[in-house]
Amino acid sequence: MYDQLPLEGMPRRLYSCTPSRLNAWLDCRRRYRFTYLDRPQPSKGPAWAHNSVGASVHNALAAWWREPYERRTPLTAATLLTGGWIAEGFRDGEQSAHWLGRARDLVSGYVATLDPSDDPVGVERTVATRTKVIALSGRIDRLDRRGDELVVVDYKTGRRPLTQDDARSSLALAVYAIAASRMMRTPARAVELHHLPTGEIVEWRHTDESLGRHLRRAEEIALEASDADERYREAVSSGGPSGSRGRAQAGPGRRGPSGSSAAQAAPERQAAPVEGARTAAEAAPRAWPSAADVRREQSADVRRERPSVGPAVVPPAIDELFAPSPGPICGWCDFRRHCPEGLAAAPERRPWDGLAE
Ligand code: SF4
Repeated sequence: MYDQLPLEGMPRRLYSCTPSRLNAWLDCRRRYRFTYLDRPQPSKGPAWAHNSVGASVHNALAAWWREPYERRTPLTAATLLTGGWIAEGFRDGEQSAHWLGRARDLVSGYVATLDPSDDPVGVERTVATRTKVIALSGRIDRLDRRGDELVVVDYKTGRRPLTQDDARSSLALAVYAIAASRMMRTPARAVELHHLPTGEIVEWRHTDESLGRHLRRAEEIALEASDADERYREAVSSGGPSGSRGRAQAGPGRRGPSGSSAAQAAPERQAAPVEGARTAAEAAPRAWPSAADVRREQSADVRRERPSVGPAVVPPAIDELFAPSPGPICGWCDFRRHCPEGLAAAPERRPWDGLAE
């Protein structure tokens, strides 16, 4: 399939990406295409309530560290949470109010465990690094200095308990550690998941070797994805029936990916959702876009209505290249309405089903 890899020694364009993009490629190539290549982007489903909780909590914690020292109290955290509450995706006002209370307790309880004088090196800190094939960037929830080392801290708000394997195997945390270390010329090997609902901190300490393995893995994924991107661009720019610039129509009775009828599709929904899932990563079995993706969407257009847009019409070879990976995760996919295989693979989830009631 990937017969267009460059000859050794030939220069190739750096593949710019985030860990979320790489994980999207691994999870489902069709979802990757819808997320990163089809423009305009196909319409997503409505906002997820668990994303609203996750983004609200992250925003409040970031804002808390920006407060002057004397205001870094649990009450301030609760006030920030309340002021920035995102009420999208909930069943009704009562459910939103219930979760606002729970999230308020979450952030105030968490910051009570912190030393407000212990300023992090960075909060919502963007880091970047590059190799010969990849330009990686992303945003770290919090970057601490402990002794002579940096520690990458990632907040988690989902219901699923975390394991050390989550920290060890996280491509994102590993490349953030590498990027932070290179940018600040300071060792960074420890990564931590802070699970707010339980107060548990799961830590993993990388070695140079394990960090190197993660980076090589990122490069391998990037090589695959960038070649697929290139083939997509060639097909779209060639135009005509095999490279049409047209759009599939979203909604019942239209033709969707794989030429299948989208008549099975769920009714068209117009709401502009929060992208991906901070806590869908926790509510669902596989990794989904990161907190940074969620917050980017939050700040850009989470409250903006978008017109209904279907997927780009692509040649069969491109549809095959970006094949779907149907499974239970499809119940949480923002693009399932455009994906007959995904619709068949998993039942529809209600926007508030990811909450840990
Ligand atoms: S519904 Fe499932 S198979 Fe379809 S794009 Fe989404 S994750 Fe992929």
